[in-house]
Amino acid sequence: MIKELLWFPTNKCLIDGEWRFPEAKAEITLVNPSDGKFLSCIARCSKNDVGSAVSSAHESLTGSWGKKTALERGRILIAMSKLVKKYSEKLAYIEALDVGKPLSQAKNDVVALIRYLEFYGGAADKIHGLTIPFHNDYTVYGLRERLGVTAHIIPWNYPMQIIGRSVSASLAIGNACILKPSEEACLTALAFGEIANEAGLPNGALNIIPGFGLEAGQSLTSNKKINHISFTGSVKTGILVQTSAAQNIVSTTLELGGKSPQIVFDDADLERAIPFLINGGLQNSGQTCSASSRILIQKNAYKIVVEKMRDVYKTLRVAPAIEDFELGPLISQRQMDIITSYLNKSADLKLSAEGSVMKNPSGGFYVSPKLFETENYMHSIAQEEIFGPIQIVIPFDDEKEAIKIANATEYGLVASVWTENGSRQLRMAKALKAGQVFVNNYGAGGGIELPFGGVEKSGNGREKGFESLYGFSQLKTVATFHGEGNE
Ligand code: NAD
Repeated sequence: MIKELLWFPTNKCLIDGEWRFPEAKAEITLVNPSDGKFLSCIARCSKNDVGSAVSSAHESLTGSWGKKTALERGRILIAMSKLVKKYSEKLAYIEALDVGKPLSQAKNDVVALIRYLEFYGGAADKIHGLTIPFHNDYTVYGLRERLGVTAHIIPWNYPMQIIGRSVSASLAIGNACILKPSEEACLTALAFGEIANEAGLPNGALNIIPGFGLEAGQSLTSNKKINHISFTGSVKTGILVQTSAAQNIVSTTLELGGKSPQIVFDDADLERAIPFLINGGLQNSGQTCSASSRILIQKNAYKIVVEKMRDVYKTLRVAPAIEDFELGPLISQRQMDIITSYLNKSADLKLSAEGSVMKNPSGGFYVSPKLFETENYMHSIAQEEIFGPIQIVIPFDDEKEAIKIANATEYGLVASVWTENGSRQLRMAKALKAGQVFVNNYGAGGGIELPFGGVEKSGNGREKGFESLYGFSQLKTVATFHGEGNE
C-alpha cells in the first residue's frame, strides 16, 4: 500500500533543493508499527551530508531566499499550505502507517500542519521591530532580524505537527532550515520537502537530512555554522543537544517530556470533563509529550469520576492504525519494552480499568490502555514519563494538596483544572508549574496560536503562536546620535 502513496523519493536527502543520495549511500529501514514489517528505506546521512546541508542553507541566505521580502516568504508558506491540503489524504495515510496512529488522528495532524503554514504565512509580514524613547538627541530603534541557519531535530510521534510549528515559523522570519527527522518515522518530513519544492521555496531554504541521532543529529548540533537549534524529544537527548550547542554558544529551544496532571475538583462539570481526562492521556497511545498521564481527583468526587472513567476504558479498543479504532500500536518494540518494564513495577498499584486489543497482527506493537489508582503520588509510575497508554488516578483533599501533588514531578509542560469556582480557577492557574494551563478543557483542540513549551525538565523556550517568531529572531539595537538641531 505504501508505494502507491509516495510521490517523493524516500531514500534520499534534500540538499540545495535537490534530492540526493547520502554520500555513503547508506540506508535505514523503517518498520510499520501495526505489523512490524518493512515499510520503507530512508537515507542515513553522515557528517559530510550535514556539512553540505549547512553550506547550502548559508548560501540560500545570501541568494534568492535571503532576498525575499516578508510578504513573499508568507506567500510561499501559504502556497505550501494549499499543497498540503491537496495531498492531505495521502499524507494522513502515510503518517498512520509510519507512526502507527489511528487514521483520524493522522488526519487531524494534517489539518494542524495546514493551519501552521497559514498562521505563519500570514504572520510573516506582521512581526515588527520597535522604536525606543531615549535622549532627545538620539533616535533608537530595534531591527528584528533572522537568526540565520536553524536546525530542527524532531521526534517520531507528531512529525507533521512539529514540522509545522517549528520549521514554518523559522521560515516565516527568513531563516534557512535544516530538518533532522526521527529515524523511526520520517516519511511525512520527506513529503514536506517535496511540497516545499513544488511551492517554489528557493533552493537551500529547507534542507532535510534523515539519519540516526548519534550520527546526523550529533553532527548537526556540533556544527559551528548553525545559529540556533530547535530540539523536540526526550530529556536525555535534550541534555546532549544543549551540551553540544554550548560548545559553540548556540541558542537552543528545548521541547521535552512531561507528566502532565489534570485536576478535578468536586464542583466540576464531570460530563464535560470525562472525555478530556481520557483522550488527553491516551491520544496517540499516550505517546504525546503533553499526555495527561496523571489525573488528580478531589476525594468527594473520586468514586464517581473513577467509575465514569472505568466505563469509558472498558470501551477502548486497540487495532492497526488504518482500522482507525480509538488507539493504535506503539511505535516500536523498544517502546513496548519500556512500557512492559513500567508495568512490571505496578504490582503495588490498583489496576482500576483496562481497554482491549481487538486486532493484533503478529509483529505489531500492541498494548491495552490501563488505568491505575494510588495514593502514593511519588510512585515511579506517577512520577516518570512513560510514553504509553497508562494513566494514574490520585485522590486529594483540598486546593493546597492538589497543588502540592501536581507540582511534585520534575516536569512542567501542561496542566488542567476542572472547577466551576472562578477564584479557584485563577489561583490554580497561577500556582501550577506548567507552560500551559487549561481551565475546563485540555489542549484547546491543539491551539496552534497558543504559545507552548515547558519549565524545569520539560524544557525552555516557546514555540507555537506569535511567541515562536520572537524565538526564531533577534533584535539589533541601532542608536543614532543626531543632536538636537539647535542651529
Ligand atoms: P529522542 O530524544 O530519542 O529523539 C528525538 C530526536 O533526537 C530524533 O530525531 C533523534 O534521532 C535525535 N537524536 C537522538 N540522539 C541525538 C543526539 N545525540 N544528538 C542530536 N540528535 C539526537 O526522542 P523520541 O523518542 O523520538 O521522542 C519522544 C520524546 O519526545 C518524549 O520524551 C516526548 O515527551 C518528547 N516530545 C516532546 C514534545 C514537546 O513539544 N515538548 C513533543 C513531542 C515529543
